[in-house]
Amino acid sequence: MMLLPRQHTGLVGDSLRHDSTRPHGIYSLPSPPMSRPGSRPCWLPKPRLPAMPSLLERLSPELQLLIMSELDYQSLIFLSTVNRHFHRLIDPGRMADPEDKFQFVMRAAKDFPQHRPSEKGRDHQPGNLECYICFRVRAPEYFDVLQAPTACLDPHGRIVSDREPGPGDRVVSLRRFCIECGVVHGLHAPFDCLTTRAGQFLWICQCRKILRKPDCLRCSDCGSTCPLRPKKVW
Ligand SMILES: [Zn+2]
Ligand SMILES: [Zn+2]
Repeated sequence: MMLLPRQHTGLVGDSLRHDSTRPHGIYSLPSPPMSRPGSRPCWLPKPRLPAMPSLLERLSPELQLLIMSELDYQSLIFLSTVNRHFHRLIDPGRMADPEDKFQFVMRAAKDFPQHRPSEKGRDHQPGNLECYICFRVRAPEYFDVLQAPTACLDPHGRIVSDREPGPGDRVVSLRRFCIECGVVHGLHAPFDCLTTRAGQFLWICQCRKILRKPDCLRCSDCGSTCPLRPKKVW
């Protein structure tokens, strides 16, 4: 770290007058009507200039997309966080190869230090978990403790939940999925009650919103109420 000499501010008022981010009360100096270039004190960070488009951004959109089609899931995620342009352009979940997403999310949950469980003092932080539908690594509160290990699909690949399985249906094993994906894909049905891996109690209303017990026992949109009210007082 480079240390720069502290400048005296009491007499040389100009050196601080143009820093609009600092409250003026601290320095009791009036703000000038217009800021003058060159009067910024040397220890303040330089104002950010408009970023020059990168080499990749200067290519035609077709070429950019062609290059992105060659990137793996991890690189797409990284590039999508570089700036607004790439954030708008790149949807890693849609653009990456499914097998690549599968491998990456499994590796990330296991190997990335920020997703591992941690033991700080008496606080035990359970690790994050991977969802094999949205291919994200998410906190334990996004996952149901009693997630179904299998699902029954009809001949068209739709989840069978409103009737007994029939002769044309087949049972498939399910990998781990987050509660939101479970609701979207019909793996959690309306009026299901769930307990997250972080210990929160949830229920799914008629219009498929995920609501928290006991804070919200009635959906304000569809009017449905939580199916199993606990006997004990919360
Ligand atoms: Zn998910
Ligand atoms: Zn509802």
